[in-house]
Amino acid sequence: MTGWISVAGLGPGAEALVTPEVTAALAEATDIVGYIPYVARVAPRPGLVLHPSDNRVELDRAQAALDMARAGRRVVIVSSGDPGVFAMASALFEALETRPDCHDLDIRILPGITAMLAAAARAGAPLGHDFCAINLSDNLKPFAEVERRLRHAAQGGFAMAFYNPRSRSRPHQFARVLEILREECEGARLILFARAVTTPEERIETVTLADATPEMADMRTVVIVGNAATRRVGRWVYTPRSVEGAV
Ligand code: SAH
Repeated sequence: MTGWISVAGLGPGAEALVTPEVTAALAEATDIVGYIPYVARVAPRPGLVLHPSDNRVELDRAQAALDMARAGRRVVIVSSGDPGVFAMASALFEALETRPDCHDLDIRILPGITAMLAAAARAGAPLGHDFCAINLSDNLKPFAEVERRLRHAAQGGFAMAFYNPRSRSRPHQFARVLEILREECEGARLILFARAVTTPEERIETVTLADATPEMADMRTVVIVGNAATRRVGRWVYTPRSVEGAV
């Protein structure tokens, strides 16, 4: 049997947003590897082995997947959203750097709909002009670097999407993020807090920077900060496609 690995994005939550390509890979798999809540989204069936693992063990998980594929298993590593956005695809390639014996493996990355795009679509078009995505977690980079990038992005006039905005272990950091935004942007700047998008617990709230509080975000929230031209029209929020002069 020839083994393979697919790193699949399960999308933000709704079944309708899982791509047919991902569904087909899950149907052919012998093994599913990933973070516990993501593996829980895959329906069990006879012959399918589930390997849920905890957060922060991405490299071990990737190594295990390489071993299984090498032994002939058909492995799907699951991520939420898109596997290339703050997720398992990079972890797999990091592991692959240490495994020349696996360089000839059949490895595929199957894209998914990432949280910021699902959230933006719900709200209107807040990412309709230039934007960037920043992971606010300091697990894999120092928080000083988060602060530096945030300031540059704000000064550069980008709309921004924040992933992993706030966890119980570092609640003060998101307060600091709002403080930096207040130094760099006007108080009327629109901020969108989109929680559990496309799931039954979805909650989307748009406020001005002046009214934003740290409690509005948690780890199931993606935060979108508009650029200076982002505005409301009816119940929608959108960013115009053009910019007049410098922002
Ligand atoms: N690969 C994922 C991101 C993983 S990082 C993707 O492409 O979406 C985990 C972070 O993603 C969460 O802290 C949150 O900021 C965001 N996120 C994931 N799913 C979400 C959802 N359904 N609604 C809102 N934010 C979500």
